[in-house]
Amino acid sequence: MIPRILIWLDTTNQTTFTQSLQLIGLTSNIQTPSVSAVVIGNISAEYQKQAASFGFEKIIQILSSDIPEIEINVYAQLITEWVKPIQPDLFIFPNSDYGRLLGASVSAALDLPFYPAIQTIHQQAEGYQLSRLTFGKKCKQILQVHSPFMLSANYKTENSNQFSDSSEIPLIKHQAANQPENLVEIIQKFQQTSHLPLEQARVIVTGGRGLLNNPTSAPADLTGEELDKWKVNHGFELLKTLAKQLNGTVGATRALVDAGFAPYEWQIGQTGKFVSPELYITCGVSGAIQHTIGMNNSRLIIAINKDPDAPIFKVANYGIIGDLYEILPTLIKDFA
Ligand SMILES: Cc1cc2nc3c(=O)[nH]c(=O)nc-3n(C[C@H](O)[C@H](O)[C@H](O)COP(=O)(O)OP(=O)(O)OC[C@H]3O[C@@H](n4cnc5c(N)ncnc54)[C@H](O)[C@@H]3O)c2cc1C
Repeated sequence: MIPRILIWLDTTNQTTFTQSLQLIGLTSNIQTPSVSAVVIGNISAEYQKQAASFGFEKIIQILSSDIPEIEINVYAQLITEWVKPIQPDLFIFPNSDYGRLLGASVSAALDLPFYPAIQTIHQQAEGYQLSRLTFGKKCKQILQVHSPFMLSANYKTENSNQFSDSSEIPLIKHQAANQPENLVEIIQKFQQTSHLPLEQARVIVTGGRGLLNNPTSAPADLTGEELDKWKVNHGFELLKTLAKQLNGTVGATRALVDAGFAPYEWQIGQTGKFVSPELYITCGVSGAIQHTIGMNNSRLIIAINKDPDAPIFKVANYGIIGDLYEILPTLIKDFA
């Protein structure tokens, strides 16, 4: 029997959309799968064209009279109501914070197993073999599973991000029978910061405790913690400028997060985020194992540190030995 596979496409923006389109590559080890995309609400003609070029068979568009901005419990109810009678063999979600939570919510409602952070799927004579990295990406876990099941995954296509020449795709509309109940009351909305989330960035420039050694003269009335904060903030302005020039974002070590100089969302490492961008630049980061475990899968690592014996140089592809406050302005000038 042909395995019926669904992939939920996150239409929030082009980055999340491309990431979810690429998940179709995960099904390449499944014999003649039928892979359909599932979206909630409107999908632009351009996104439909992109889904066609990735080889999706069709798009199922779930519509409801009042779809709020991305809201997990509402989306989970809409997907669950539609998918229950369909009974797909496999339902895949992106492994973003949102995708994982949505997939887990739908799987709980359907009483199906949900496997997060999967990297490969292999079809076997009976069932499927899944793999994922565990224990800080040091161990590979192999799972033997039987359909139906659900999972979340990150998958980047290696050579090409297109699988088909097609630019047309059937759009099947499904009007939800029941208006989902919104269980969440929004009390207050916060303005989203301009910080590009680490998981979405192709370039990350990370600051460590070395930012505190800022030789720039600070306002004379600042002392103690206020002065340190000023120094680090001023340092981060340089990192942000470089990150912006490279279309990237900034990250931080736990040393700066724990000291209250950077938000937790920026923390990379064992107790922060695991990232694998195309380019990772560290500035004043020593290279403790708890940090490097979260970034050593980056494609290219450049480390700036004034200590030639800093452990970060062991994981870096290129090292610049020197004061970050002299090197960063030069790099910024070169990239301007
Ligand atoms: C259970 C546990 C979990 C942890 N989880 C994490 C985690 O998720 N992420 C994380 O990052 N850490 C984590 N840590 C902390 C980790 O062990 C290190 O303490 C931390 O990563 C060090 O941060 P740092 O490199 O910024 O600071 P430091 O180790 O103090 O290094 C600062 C570096 O800056 C250099 N420097 C100083 N001035 C300059 C300058 N002007 N120019 C250039 N270089 C300069 C110095 O030579 C030094 O190498 C964890 C620790 C524990 C115990």
